[in-house]
Amino acid sequence: MEKNEKNEKRSVRGIRIRSVNIIMILVSCVLYLLLITATIHVSRKYEDVHRSMDDYIEFEDSEALLSEGSAYLTEQVRLYVITLEPQYMENYFTEVHEIGRREQALERLKESDYGQEAYRYLEEALDNSNRLMSSEMYAMKLAATAGGKDMEAFPEEIQTMALQEEDLNLSQEEQQKKAQMLVFGDEYQLAKDRITDAVEGAMSSMHELTHERMLGNADELELTMKRQGLLVSVLFVETIITFVMILMLIIKPLQVYIRCIKEDKMMEITGSYEFKYLALTYNDIYEVNTANEAMLRYQAEHDPLTGIINRGAFEQLKRLFQIKLIPLAFLIVDVDKFKQVNDGYGHEVGDLVLKKVAELLQDSFRATDYPARIGGDEFAVILTNLTEDQKDVVERKVQEMNDQLTHPKDGLPQVSLSVGAAFSEKGFTEELYRQADQALYEVKEHGRCGCRFYKEDGTEA
Ligand code: GH3
Ligand code: MG
Repeated sequence: MEKNEKNEKRSVRGIRIRSVNIIMILVSCVLYLLLITATIHVSRKYEDVHRSMDDYIEFEDSEALLSEGSAYLTEQVRLYVITLEPQYMENYFTEVHEIGRREQALERLKESDYGQEAYRYLEEALDNSNRLMSSEMYAMKLAATAGGKDMEAFPEEIQTMALQEEDLNLSQEEQQKKAQMLVFGDEYQLAKDRITDAVEGAMSSMHELTHERMLGNADELELTMKRQGLLVSVLFVETIITFVMILMLIIKPLQVYIRCIKEDKMMEITGSYEFKYLALTYNDIYEVNTANEAMLRYQAEHDPLTGIINRGAFEQLKRLFQIKLIPLAFLIVDVDKFKQVNDGYGHEVGDLVLKKVAELLQDSFRATDYPARIGGDEFAVILTNLTEDQKDVVERKVQEMNDQLTHPKDGLPQVSLSVGAAFSEKGFTEELYRQADQALYEVKEHGRCGCRFYKEDGTEA
């Protein structure tokens, strides 16, 4: 039996909370790790986009610086050859030696390894600009010579600049004209255009590169953000599944179990494997407890020798019929000269006789009647819903029992019963007990082995 129960427990089928818990933790960890990775990736991509913009702006600033520097030199050289104002030459050389915007522009970009092609274009622009400088200085020297200026106050580059023989032979006017031609002429303009082309080339290369970078980052950003959205959706679904699992596997079974405990009944086998196992164990204990309780109640209410209800239970019955006011008959039954049985055949045989009497009482009366052992050889019977006009029924039954006891076929000694009886229209009373006892006394007085009914004016055989 115990083995079967154990097997039953072992064969319990159900989802284990522990396994579900481990799976959910693992899935959550993986999903959160992926989400964190995706988030880091997104933030990096944003940084890249930002950097692309910064690089582009910085490049644009450098390009502007280089163009401004070049334009400034052109402007100052042109002003000088026309006006021969030393201020313009000074401005020119200040830009070349001190301010150096064109070099600054290249220097700023040198540190960035980004946009090499664009950088090369700017280098080319600077080279062209530098090459143009020698013809600009030549123009200034020629103009200054034509103007008869004192060369000693001029920068070293102008002083050391040697004029060509053919230009020295020109007249002052021609020299001035030629100097102006050198910085306003087509050749000069062509050289300026080359610088502008190189700068524009740099800008368009930079534009293209930035565009490519932005597009690449935007594509990756879009993909990663889609992934992020998907992960959040999966996490949402996982959370919902977790809540449903908790509800189905833990909360609902707990509610069912609490209801079963409150109603004091066996538990329903429901929920997770752990709860099912718990319910089966509880049910086993419940069964054992119920059986024990029933056994203890039975032992408390029944006479261990005869198996019929004992004095204690009889007292409770009396109280019950003191409330339940139905018509009933009450009998007190005593074994005649029972001491002699004990003395003559021994106590054990006496016990067997008592058991036989109890069995006879149980068999003779209805299931709704209550035979009880209330003393050593004394019994009582409450016969429910029986009225005085049914005396003959009681008499006949006592007669039959005495017939069997006086003609034993089971080897037990002959005995007989004396029965005192009384009727009540409305339940049990102490007076009824007294009346039955009085009737029994009368039977004992009048030769035993028989039955008498109590009457106001004396008992009736
Ligand atoms: P009477 O006809 O007047 O009733 O005579 P009696 O001998 O039966 O006298 P009484 O009813 O007073 O005696 C009851 C005897 O029952 C006394 C006691 O030794 C015996 N007895 C009580 N309980 C048990 C029991 O459990 N087993 C046995 N074998 N005898 C018991
Ligand atoms: Mg007796």
